[in-house]
Amino acid sequence: MKKALYGILGLLVVILVVFAVKVVQVERGRDRVQDEIKSKFFPKFSTFDSVKKLSILPLVDYYGEGKDIRTEPGVSYLIKADDTVILMDTGYNEKKEHPSPLIANMQKLGIRPEDIDMIFITHLHPDHLGGTDESSDHNFSLSRGPVKLNPVTVYAPADVSPSKWNPGPKIEVIKEPRVLKPGIASIGVIPRYLFLAGYTEEQSLAINVQGKGIVLIIGCGHQTIERIVEQARMIFHEPIYAVIGGLHFPVYGGRIFVGPVNVQWLVGSDNPPWKGLGEDDVRKGIEVLQGANPAVVSLSPHDSSDWSLEQFRKSFGNKFVELKVGREMTL
Ligand SMILES: [Zn+2]
Ligand SMILES: [Zn+2]
Repeated sequence: MKKALYGILGLLVVILVVFAVKVVQVERGRDRVQDEIKSKFFPKFSTFDSVKKLSILPLVDYYGEGKDIRTEPGVSYLIKADDTVILMDTGYNEKKEHPSPLIANMQKLGIRPEDIDMIFITHLHPDHLGGTDESSDHNFSLSRGPVKLNPVTVYAPADVSPSKWNPGPKIEVIKEPRVLKPGIASIGVIPRYLFLAGYTEEQSLAINVQGKGIVLIIGCGHQTIERIVEQARMIFHEPIYAVIGGLHFPVYGGRIFVGPVNVQWLVGSDNPPWKGLGEDDVRKGIEVLQGANPAVVSLSPHDSSDWSLEQFRKSFGNKFVELKVGREMTL
């Protein structure tokens, strides 16, 4: 009996120590990231050009539209900017299937993997790389079976390779803002130190639509919308026309749970868990966006709760566009 009690006490002490170490790490990490961001300055792009036509078709996200469309808490968007077809992120494939939800939806929507000209990976989390194994092995997959891709370029924020299921693409690591093709750019990596995931680098895609302005397409939004807007203002002459994708507001709910634990809420903040993410963060995010005054706002439901989506709907009215798998947005 005594032995069991000592065992439980010992375990509690270990948990407390691990927790205390994590809290110190996240506080130091947050300071380090703040210094890193403050020390960076990027000049405005001198030539960026623009595209005439832009469409975004969500292939993986938490909500969908249409018969037989599959959904999951991950991200993959098909972006057509004039003649360039970009695949941004490769979904979650939570059940390690073939065909994955991504490939099943592509088949349903009449898209062939061979049509893809460029792959853009926002960051190395499982819901953006095609699975948890992919994330820990630093590779990405479109499905857990063969998928034929052309030897296209993959722009990623860190070294990541194609999985054995979809070999061929070549990786280029991006850290700083960079034009990828006329009118298409990465805003560069913005780091954040997250409570569970630690140092996380994420990039967003920016496309300049002629006569309208910059369309920002975001993965999880760990960088925070404040810093994304700041960086976009630093590098582009053009105004922000649209903000589309994940901003990570799993407040009063989330999409990934382990038992009773809202994993996205715990993973996605640089605060210790007793502070976490709250109403104030959502309100601040909305205020920053209102300051940037985009004509279109579309929030990904994969890492934001229904409560947060409702706040966005109320705040942006007819500027708010529902983001659903199978529903193409033309900008
Ligand atoms: Zn995500
Ligand atoms: Zn993420």
